[in-house]
Amino acid sequence: MPPVNLSKATKVYRCLFFDQPEQCLLCGSRHGNLVCLPCQTLLQPIQEAQCRCGLPFSGADPQRHQPDDPPLCGRCIRQPPGFSASTALYPYQFPLNLLIQGFKHHGKLVNERALQQLIGAASLPWPDCDQLCPLPVHWQRRWRRGFDQSERLANLLGRRWQRPVIRALVRHRATPHQQGLTRKQRQRNLRHAFRCQADVQDLNLVLVDDVMTTGSTARAASQALLDAGAASVRVWCLARTL
Ligand SMILES: [Zn+2]
Ligand SMILES: [Zn+2]
Repeated sequence: MPPVNLSKATKVYRCLFFDQPEQCLLCGSRHGNLVCLPCQTLLQPIQEAQCRCGLPFSGADPQRHQPDDPPLCGRCIRQPPGFSASTALYPYQFPLNLLIQGFKHHGKLVNERALQQLIGAASLPWPDCDQLCPLPVHWQRRWRRGFDQSERLANLLGRRWQRPVIRALVRHRATPHQQGLTRKQRQRNLRHAFRCQADVQDLNLVLVDDVMTTGSTARAASQALLDAGAASVRVWCLARTL
């Protein structure tokens, strides 16, 4: 049996049982935070007004149908989504993408704690809704990962906003990964991908997702909720691909 490296074993023990990682998850510096202060400055929340699809408007005057309507980008003007508004907390870019990918694809729960800290520190205006609904992954993917990241996110927000979380949607087709597909291919992929299994009649819902890429998935999911009688759907996501 190889000799036990006591110092390493102690570190692992501390990380596992006392939940105190010694290094910043992003740069490895030793500041005692999951994400050190210099790395936190790289994580800038979206401040600009956002389109109904969550895209931020940079400077240019957004187009509005009505003065009080959320502004609209070109795609949303041509093809308005069923949901009425989107809030994306961060742009999906380095280094946030590493934290999210590490959590989602490699099951690093310490990354989830870092994300929870970011969300905890963010100002999250109350979205005036009845219930939150996670945008689910297919059960096979959930089974492989051992969790559904959107559901965990929705539970976190539900506690923050004191609103129930309802698993109203089922993803009843294992849609291939959407990455690398054109918008048309994504839409074809997602047709009839979601089914609503709960009574959402007349409810104002917030659909919760971790990353919104093109918005095609959120469009398909919100349509299933609206078809089932939901009064309105807004989307909340942690990060938006720009
Ligand atoms: Zn750092
Ligand atoms: Zn848009």
